[in-house]
Amino acid sequence: MAQVSLRNVSKVFPGGVEAVKDVSLGVEDKEFLVILGPSGCGKSTTLRVIAGLEEATNGDVFIADKRVNDIPPKDRDIAMVFQNYALYPHMNVYNNMAFGLRLRNYPKPEIDGRVRDAAGILGLAKLLDRKPRELSGGQRQRVAVGRAIVRKPLVFLFDEPLSNLDAKMRMQMRTEIHRLHIRLQSTMIYVTHDQTEAMTLGDRIVVMNEGVMQQVGSPIEIYDKPVNKFVADFIGSPPMNFIEGTVVSKDSKLYFNEKLGKLKVKIADGMTEKLLPSVNKEIIFGIRSEDIYDKLFASNASVDNTVTMACEVVEPMGSEAYLHLSSGKHTLIAKVGAHNNPPVNQDMDFVFDMQKVHFFDKHTGDTII
Ligand code: ATP
Repeated sequence: MAQVSLRNVSKVFPGGVEAVKDVSLGVEDKEFLVILGPSGCGKSTTLRVIAGLEEATNGDVFIADKRVNDIPPKDRDIAMVFQNYALYPHMNVYNNMAFGLRLRNYPKPEIDGRVRDAAGILGLAKLLDRKPRELSGGQRQRVAVGRAIVRKPLVFLFDEPLSNLDAKMRMQMRTEIHRLHIRLQSTMIYVTHDQTEAMTLGDRIVVMNEGVMQQVGSPIEIYDKPVNKFVADFIGSPPMNFIEGTVVSKDSKLYFNEKLGKLKVKIADGMTEKLLPSVNKEIIFGIRSEDIYDKLFASNASVDNTVTMACEVVEPMGSEAYLHLSSGKHTLIAKVGAHNNPPVNQDMDFVFDMQKVHFFDKHTGDTII
């Protein structure tokens, strides 16, 4: 059983940078956990602390129920795959994969079996004699993964392994890593700044910002129920639309009024109780691009959820189109069907799905609904 847990882990680098702040986290046996966040948020440092490549300033790291703080990386039974592959340029593919096992004095037939098995899984069987310079980026990354597989570690750690690949190869390798996880049934911890990788690969995602863990949850939980504006903004493409404004009460109903603008929508009855303390206060309204409809294509339009805006730009994406809409004060993006091609710079009616909207505290960014 290869659980990994971090208890109150912090990392302060010499010079005072607090890269990781009091992170506590449990990774289940066989789980695929993704650590997601923007550049500099502390995700690589967290992974390196698990690997033992960095020492935690505070807190404890456990692998398979054993405290490993004082155990060197090579004895932690982990294998790490890096963004830059870190292959030995003078060794062929076979020797790159065999190297770690030779260092550990594995018998030759055992090494040969493991290398050939891994090469089979990764489609490298015909490339075993090539040097890294004779391989494509995707093939090199496969060798780096193969080198991890042959070790049969308790835990795989991936640090942005696909960042150096072009978009198409990235997608292909993403699927391969997914398959590998299903096949190997190992615990995997994967660091990325790419929310698509996080959503598609993770059983659960940890979102980090400025060294602090913001939220842990399944991809759908994180998407549908972000705990704060940072998470709401970071997950989703295009990002969630945010509008500053005020909650007002009229005739026992609540409305959201855009700040200094004309956008006004009625708040759904099910949300009013939680928003009562925010009446007459500034708030941030959030709506995802797929929850804004051209009125012509909306089934639930009413005066309460219809907003007049001008479509300034239409971006056709093939299967869908992004409409850039101006309320006068804010620009919103609506994701609509590809056939929906409104005229530009003319006022038109758009419908908000008010059951799906979010509200955030203006000062803390915390989710209210
Ligand atoms: P990226 O996606 O850019 O790799 P990250 O989220 O993985 O970013 P980290 O590499 O963990 O971020 O870095 C977190 C913070 O710690 C950053 O501010 C970084 O500059 C700082 N940092 C990282 N390594 C060191 C170091 N060896 N010495 C001092 N500061 C460091």
